[in-house]
Amino acid sequence: MFDVIIAGCGPTGAMLAAELRLHDVRVLVLEKETEPASFVRIVGLHIRSLELMAMRGLLDRILQHGRRRPAGGFFAAIPKPAPKGLDSAYAYLLGIPQPVIVHLLEEHAIELGAQVRRGCAVAGFEQDDEGVTVELADGEQLRSRYLVGCDGARSMVRKLLGVGFPGEPARTETLMGEMEVGVPQEEIAAKVAETRETHQRFWLRPFGEGVYSVVVPAAGVGDRTEPPTLEDFKQQLRAIAGTDFGVHSPRWMSRFGDATRLAERYRVGRVLLAGDAAHIHPPTGGQGLNLGVQDAFNLGWKLAAQIRGWAPETLLDTYQAERHPVAEDVLDNTRAQMELLSAEPGPQAVRRLLTELMDFDEVNRYLIEKITAIGIRYDFGEGPDLLGRRLRDIDVKQGHLYGLLHRGRGLLLDRTERLTVGGWSDRVDYLADPTAVLDVPCVLLRPDGHVAWIGDDQGDLDDHLSRWFGKPAD
Ligand SMILES: Cc1cc2nc3c(=O)[nH]c(=O)nc-3n(C[C@H](O)[C@H](O)[C@H](O)COP(=O)(O)OP(=O)(O)OC[C@H]3O[C@@H](n4cnc5c(N)ncnc54)[C@H](O)[C@@H]3O)c2cc1C
Repeated sequence: MFDVIIAGCGPTGAMLAAELRLHDVRVLVLEKETEPASFVRIVGLHIRSLELMAMRGLLDRILQHGRRRPAGGFFAAIPKPAPKGLDSAYAYLLGIPQPVIVHLLEEHAIELGAQVRRGCAVAGFEQDDEGVTVELADGEQLRSRYLVGCDGARSMVRKLLGVGFPGEPARTETLMGEMEVGVPQEEIAAKVAETRETHQRFWLRPFGEGVYSVVVPAAGVGDRTEPPTLEDFKQQLRAIAGTDFGVHSPRWMSRFGDATRLAERYRVGRVLLAGDAAHIHPPTGGQGLNLGVQDAFNLGWKLAAQIRGWAPETLLDTYQAERHPVAEDVLDNTRAQMELLSAEPGPQAVRRLLTELMDFDEVNRYLIEKITAIGIRYDFGEGPDLLGRRLRDIDVKQGHLYGLLHRGRGLLLDRTERLTVGGWSDRVDYLADPTAVLDVPCVLLRPDGHVAWIGDDQGDLDDHLSRWFGKPAD
């Protein structure tokens, strides 16, 4: 008997497993593939995800495997630098291969005690009042108290749960791969610049050792289960750029569409959904993995609280209440970005206008805070603007604030040095620090770093500790 079975060891499932293990939850991750994906897709970790990694002491490990790039230029690939003074200690983008991220998160989860079984596909499940019986493809049955589907866009868990996945099917498709080219680099640079003036969905950039990353619109929407051929690439390069650049010797070739869909519900009883299993959208702006990892970060401590028995009654349902609107917003901004990437004259005119508008600091800042997810404010009710937002990593007496969050517990940061976390000290840490760089007396942080309360009154604090962390210990 496990507490939680997670279907899928992608970035979302691995992150969730690690978060649950911080609270000693017995976790089993079932992954249908025997090995992590072998093709190298470079993804961008945006500011909020880098902050999460810092909060769990993982950032240094991850930085060794990635390349820092400026935070700006991601909204519809409009090349505007980020505004000065972004509100984060980690104001950059980290380009890193997706398999490396998956490997590091899986390794972290295993170090914390999660069990990962590869080569095991979830084929069915049934839930009752006490738990979920999960059936594997080979007929083996396993039992857990909860099941979380982190099994990607074609999620079996979502389908078996009967949760609707409304949205739009793919209208366009893009070919993507890595291959060698047969023409000199200078020739490529000039041709790429010229073609990108009208075709923003086209890209060809050096990847190292003579290999180029090639992205080019497909001729139409094809069979997603069939990988494209080198001839497909050549044909489309000729159609879009007027030359096929002599591409040859592909390392891998793939295609992705712009289908945009959002699960109607993130929870049905003891079964939950997270990551691509709950939402899909085109990769414009590089948000999908970030969104999934952040779902896991939001869900982990709440599900752990439910299992450990201290969760207030409605805590687990705040997962959907908080994350569904965030995904809705990401879907909308990717729809907008896809329009801005169209080669049609109307969208091109809107793109030029938005490019001008982004010269206004506030517009540029708003878009970057959206894409990087540092602008998210959960609805915790009336209160100062900081309430419901994440708190940046600030300097505190012991060093950095995020350094105090590695264990995934709540934290009261008390500048008045008068308050106490009392009977919640088994779930919430306390730091008295009159020097902390804050313009409010005290803040209560949830384990995900969001501000759950601001004030200086013990009675009011106790009410909020109960709201988020349940009843105090005797
Ligand atoms: C071209 C491209 C570029 C992208 N670039 C970015 C980017 O820059 N930044 C970004 O944030 N995102 C990016 N994304 C999106 C990102 O890759 C996905 O959002 C991310 O992989 C979602 O992670 P996940 O863990 O939710 O799902 P997945 O990565 O799909 O993982 C799901 C896992 O579940 C397993 N599984 C499936 N079915 C079962 C089953 N029945 N039983 C057990 N296991 C199962 C799968 O094998 C897989 O390992 C990009 C996507 C594409 C296509």
